[in-house]
Amino acid sequence: MRATVIHAPGDIRVEDVPEPKIIKPTDAIIRTVATCVCGSDLWPYRGAEPVTEPHPMGHEYVGIVEEVGSEVTNVRPGQFVVGSFATSDNTCANCRNGWQSNCLHREFMSTCQADYVRIPNAHGTLVATDEHPGAEFVPGLLAVSDVMGTGWYAALAAEVKPGSTAVVVGDGAVGLCGVIASKELGAERIIAMSRHASRQKLALEFGATDIISERGEEGISRVKDLTGGIGAGSVLECVGTAESMRQALHSARPGGNVGFVGVPHEVVVDGQELFFSHVGLRGGPAPVRRYLPDLIDRVLSGHIDPGKVFDLTLPLDQVAEGYKAMDERRAIKTLLTP
Ligand SMILES: [Zn+2]
Ligand SMILES: [Zn+2]
Repeated sequence: MRATVIHAPGDIRVEDVPEPKIIKPTDAIIRTVATCVCGSDLWPYRGAEPVTEPHPMGHEYVGIVEEVGSEVTNVRPGQFVVGSFATSDNTCANCRNGWQSNCLHREFMSTCQADYVRIPNAHGTLVATDEHPGAEFVPGLLAVSDVMGTGWYAALAAEVKPGSTAVVVGDGAVGLCGVIASKELGAERIIAMSRHASRQKLALEFGATDIISERGEEGISRVKDLTGGIGAGSVLECVGTAESMRQALHSARPGGNVGFVGVPHEVVVDGQELFFSHVGLRGGPAPVRRYLPDLIDRVLSGHIDPGKVFDLTLPLDQVAEGYKAMDERRAIKTLLTP
């Protein structure tokens, strides 16, 4: 089968590799219906994470179950399934507390930009739809497997509630999904920080009420201008750089909360500054599995359409162009069809 392999920064190839097999009785094999390139895939692509040896890529997926291990009873061959980028048994103490992305048996997905994928912990990870969804729902369901689930978590971690004012730092797919989540959770005012016309437009379509294109000190003072001089109650940090974290922490009001879901790269939080700010901070890989049933329903009922974040669709063979387009910011997010 075909699989995406990174050899070095900027060097993405489609290669012929053996098809995955069931290894543990809790595994399933799925045939990929759609997969995609994540903003976090750009870290190794840009050399911000070392590539010490060639390795497969991809952690976002929807597919059709081909085969299940003997202990997988919740899904069966032929079903359309959505899963999370972090697999979970959904039964251990952390899972029962709702932190499936910190499952005691967690394995992160990393081989999804391929024709077939082995899903560890399939029994606790995969959620089947009642029937095969129409093609128009596939991008939205694919978004649920990571970016929509992550945006949802960012909004919850930032404690967005009915009537909240939310600031979303980052206009990538996760930030845009954070706008959707803030709207769904009842935020009255949603301030999206974005410098790109096409992303500003999508943010407004998803429910943003204000756009701030400034960054740094200027961006922070624009947020203060819009929030009575004190900052917002909820801030979603969806990038993971030192600059974006600083933007987020300084955009929150005393007593406000920052949900940070951009994988931190060289982010350092000043303890004294945090202490005196009265800002609450929670982040991490989103427990997407907790939200899957609800988010799948919201997509299939047509209530939300996070699939709009995919503005480029390519066949799997052209995955290298998919990375390049995102790296050069010609595309927000690339959907790949095997
Ligand atoms: Zn991702
Ligand atoms: Zn678990």
